[in-house]
Amino acid sequence: MKNVIKTIMLVLTTLCTVLALASCSEEEHQHSYTYESDATKHRQVCTECGEETRWDAHVWGEWEVTKEPTLDEKGSREHTCTVCGYKGTEEIPMLTPTFGETTDFTAFYAYVPADFETVNIYYWSEAENLESSYAVAWPGVEMTLVNESEHLYGYTLPAGVDRVIINDGSSQTVDVQYSPERNALRLDVVNSDNKYEVTYTSYQAKADDPELAKPEASDPIEMITLYVVDTNGWDVLNIHYWGSKLGDSKWPGVASTKVGVVEVNGESYNTYSVEVPEDATTIIVNNGTEQTENIALIAEANCVVVSGTTSVYAKYENGTVTVVEVDLGLPEFYVVGTISGWKFVEENKLVIDEETMTATITYTFAEGDQFKIALSGWAGEVGSDALGDAFSVAADGNITVVTAGT
Ligand SMILES: [Zn+2]
Ligand SMILES: [Zn+2]
Repeated sequence: MKNVIKTIMLVLTTLCTVLALASCSEEEHQHSYTYESDATKHRQVCTECGEETRWDAHVWGEWEVTKEPTLDEKGSREHTCTVCGYKGTEEIPMLTPTFGETTDFTAFYAYVPADFETVNIYYWSEAENLESSYAVAWPGVEMTLVNESEHLYGYTLPAGVDRVIINDGSSQTVDVQYSPERNALRLDVVNSDNKYEVTYTSYQAKADDPELAKPEASDPIEMITLYVVDTNGWDVLNIHYWGSKLGDSKWPGVASTKVGVVEVNGESYNTYSVEVPEDATTIIVNNGTEQTENIALIAEANCVVVSGTTSVYAKYENGTVTVVEVDLGLPEFYVVGTISGWKFVEENKLVIDEETMTATITYTFAEGDQFKIALSGWAGEVGSDALGDAFSVAADGNITVVTAGT
């Protein structure tokens, strides 16, 4: 038995020696290596004998951008292994638009839905960098048709604008932030607030494009001091105003400053002052929970005496308040809409007699034209009925022409 084991051992030893010798002779050829690589590592493989070295991680050189990303397309970059030459690539995400404001007159465009007829742009500056001489009142200013088939409209925005709303007098976008990198909007889907969401895009002006409408500076809108005599004894007194090109105050309005106590009809009352834009049309005085009715602002009075929900006009001068009798006349109603560019035009004013208001307007309506009846300066709006089948009236009082005609 011992001999058998010895014999096996001997045979094994001999075998090992022979194998070792054979291996030695293989090492005598010069390996002809080429690199084998995958995304993360490389090794060398001999093309003659298949000898493989161990895997090593790539040794990357610097990234080089092969395609700059834009606002519309992803970019890409690559780096190269300094050992094996393998190139690794990766995407660079699309640029996202940054927001800011116009710094000069800036062409701005919108692709609107096909059913938009009069396309307005309402613009403002949330950062209050827009000169008041360029401020616009709702619904803004009419944009210039640039390309009919694409429903593309343009306007030259003044410096300082950081927000816009595109509208046709009834349908509108959400508040859109201005992006210096994107000069165009595309109106997409209508959201649950019934406003169009937008996507930012770009438009390169063409040589034969029409010249875009551009705002002309009007006189700057000054702030004026308005006095309020409070006979209600409220703790705080806010003035909410609207109708100004500078925009509306945000409810509950501007907090007033107490200027002193004045005597009206033998009684003493706290008097307050507040700065409002000179072109504001209407105010509501409130203490946060209680409020007056709408009070139209008039040139003859710089003061209102509030009592309950009502008020009278007055003049405040050197700490003295004098109630003024004002003949407000009858309210002035107008037909405004597509026919007037949503402006208050004298020839579209309703004539008022004892029982009716009448406007006789000859106009060739296109299907989809809209109008409504509104108080001068948008101090109020009324709907309409009994117009017949040629018109439809929406909940917002806008009357749409269903059948074109004169
Ligand atoms: Zn080899
Ligand atoms: Zn490598």
